[in-house]
Amino acid sequence: MSKIPINLKEGNIETDDIIVGIDLGTTNSLVAIIADEKPQTVKDSAGKHALVPSIVYFDHKGNVEVGEEAKQKLIIEPERTIFSVKRLMGKSYQDIKSHKDFFSYNIIDDDTESLVKIEVGDRYYNPVELSGQILKYLKSRVEAKIGQKVKRAVITVPAYFNDAQRQATRDAGKLAGLDVLRIINEPTAASLAYGIDQNTEEARTIAVYDLGGGTFDISILRLEKGIYEVLSTSGDTFLGGDDIDRSIGNYWIDKYGLDVKEDKKKQQALRLLAENAKKELSQQDSVSMRFENKEIGLSREEFEKICTPIIDKTLASCRNALRDAKLQKSQIDHVILVGGSTRIPYLKASVSAFFGKTVNDSLDPDEVVALGAAIQANILAGKQKDMLLLDITPLSLGIETVGGLMDVIIPRNSKIPISAARNYTTSVDGQKNLRISVFQGERDLVENNRKLGEFILRDIPPMPAGIPKIEIAFIIDADGILKVRAKELRSQKTQQIEIKSTYGISEEEMAKMLLDSLEHAQEDIAVKALLEAINEANHIILSTEKFIKQNQEVFDNKSLEKLGELKEALRDTLDSGNKNAIEKAMRKLNSFAEPLAHEAMDVQISKAMKGKSINS
Ligand code: ADP
Ligand code: MG
Repeated sequence: MSKIPINLKEGNIETDDIIVGIDLGTTNSLVAIIADEKPQTVKDSAGKHALVPSIVYFDHKGNVEVGEEAKQKLIIEPERTIFSVKRLMGKSYQDIKSHKDFFSYNIIDDDTESLVKIEVGDRYYNPVELSGQILKYLKSRVEAKIGQKVKRAVITVPAYFNDAQRQATRDAGKLAGLDVLRIINEPTAASLAYGIDQNTEEARTIAVYDLGGGTFDISILRLEKGIYEVLSTSGDTFLGGDDIDRSIGNYWIDKYGLDVKEDKKKQQALRLLAENAKKELSQQDSVSMRFENKEIGLSREEFEKICTPIIDKTLASCRNALRDAKLQKSQIDHVILVGGSTRIPYLKASVSAFFGKTVNDSLDPDEVVALGAAIQANILAGKQKDMLLLDITPLSLGIETVGGLMDVIIPRNSKIPISAARNYTTSVDGQKNLRISVFQGERDLVENNRKLGEFILRDIPPMPAGIPKIEIAFIIDADGILKVRAKELRSQKTQQIEIKSTYGISEEEMAKMLLDSLEHAQEDIAVKALLEAINEANHIILSTEKFIKQNQEVFDNKSLEKLGELKEALRDTLDSGNKNAIEKAMRKLNSFAEPLAHEAMDVQISKAMKGKSINS
């Protein structure tokens, strides 16, 4: 691999086209660019609001609305209005089921490890598609403003996002027609916006306190020689400004004897009043308003009492983060405030008192992450003179999985040296050998990428499908040599290859591959979603067949017959090429099978208990 300056010559992609910075938030998203040498957020066509509510609405025909317009639909058509999709990125239903009540739309609850899907009318969407819609909206906002196509972006994610969540964010960008040059951490972006890296040669320790609408994150960063390292993160994925609004509402209900039970619209109206009161109290000493012919109000003192338990929870997380980073409060050099909720003066004072330090709050806390992303984008565009020269992977590296899909293990633009690993398993009972094919490129189907090599992991001890745990690790050393190692973790069987020669690629080839991937993003992702649905369906068909065989005695013929019919109906959809039809058939089969599975489990357990006396 060659040394690549960060201002990559992208071939046909014009070098001086703009790279945007995007804060893809849980509650609100923003896009920023560098204009007149300053980072600036891009506002709506009226030039008023930079914030775009992260909400997507689908009407009955499948048309989409995003942002403020979609927000209006929250009350009227909650089942068609998707909010907080960031919480679902890279998650399975297992991951989120304890919070299911939080979502007013329908999340498909097949109890598997597969990624969540959302059902709107008779269509199914995954979080990547939904985030893609928000990104598309932000992209077109910039294009309208500058009268030029936008193709490249830097997108921020929380520091705690794992590989799957980061990859999902990249895919969302791709779906929106954006080449995502880099995913950076939100706290890192905030520090960049404050220019903390510019004022000093010395190593610095930075605490970034981010309280948004529904989430709280505290991150401790170490900045040394222009490189940020995350020392620790902590927080609460269900704590934020929304909780303050709810507490104010409840306080009013008690104080004024309001009755909003059983009335969703009234509850919503009260919530909005509470949010307004909260915002006004950031400037005034007291507020009063009317609700249903009653005069209601709130003083700062009352408000601060309401906020205290929420602030205390955030400070407890700060303590955890400090402990994990093995630091004392006094060792923190800078405290940065991020997120709309940090506008509350009482909160500022509390955080400042906690760290014993004045906080950085001169930038708009809503905008600071997007501004930092734009600065990072500008560095990548090579417009910052003192840019770094780093070794990076020019294209994504991954392996082929079932159905010919590309599974990325090291994304493009990763700094080297680097290593990353993922676990896989077998798809056939008793499978002894596993072929591992290594590819390079950005397309979703390996047939469109470049093959770098392949090898076979042999002599896997015979086990049922899905049981072996096979770790595939990609290791790139400082010289850019890629080693791929496969290891069956139960038997420790290992096999590896080293890839040198075919690995390098000319800049023209690279530019072509990148361009192709953008051009084909829509169809690629559609094909990928279809293949994934087919894989999942095949898996379900197999396990249903097993289930029917094993439970002949437990159920009457009728139930098993019906189950068999639903299974065959699912099989019939496989060749249709219609993802929605497959999903629908899976859903039917699953909802019929689920109670049967529980029953079968109970029978198994009681069988197992027989002959085993508990108090022996
Ligand atoms: P996220 O990072 O989750 O997308 P934001 O950073 O956009 O969220 O923060 C949104 C939250 O900030 C909302 O709960 C909103 O009520 C709150 N907020 C915005 N302005 C103020 C203000 N002036 N005072 C208090 N809270 C505010
Ligand atoms: Mg945020």
